[in-house]
Amino acid sequence: MSEPRVPGGRGAVLDLPCGEQKRVRELDLGKREFDCSCGGSHAVVMDVHPPDRFLPEFLVDILQNTIETTSEDMPEFGTAHLMGIVLEEFPQSVVSKDVSDDGELGAGIVWVTDFDSRRLHEIIVELVVELMEHAVSHADDDSVISEFESQMLQFDVSEFVEEYRAQRDLDPEPYM
Ligand SMILES: [Zn+2]
Repeated sequence: MSEPRVPGGRGAVLDLPCGEQKRVRELDLGKREFDCSCGGSHAVVMDVHPPDRFLPEFLVDILQNTIETTSEDMPEFGTAHLMGIVLEEFPQSVVSKDVSDDGELGAGIVWVTDFDSRRLHEIIVELVVELMEHAVSHADDDSVISEFESQMLQFDVSEFVEEYRAQRDLDPEPYM
């Protein structure tokens, strides 16, 4: 099935990494991914999604307390920063659009990735672990470093993502 052509003047259109197009108004706040006419599924993320869509709250707290953000618009570490990290690592696989002018959507920025929602989730967790490893390696206390390293040895990203998503699926909140 092919996507209908996108007429102009009805909200912004995203040029997807796969070559297809998607009208942002077809996405809504509760949407985590969509099936694309390229045959794949692409994750959808909006800046209004809380970062605990991907990360447990304790980790979000740590990040908010340790990561210094330079943006005045987004002083607190959040979903926009997570997507910034993904974009930096996979510039060809992420597209974004400022949709703050489009009141119908209720979001400021929307991202669509070439990956599906589950793969994106794994990537975010992997990148955050790297980020934390980097932060911890600057700690003065060697015991902090070895404690963190031993915890990370036991940390299995795909296992975590699997469990976290199963747990969040039971949640009434739609974001995932
Ligand atoms: Zn596609």
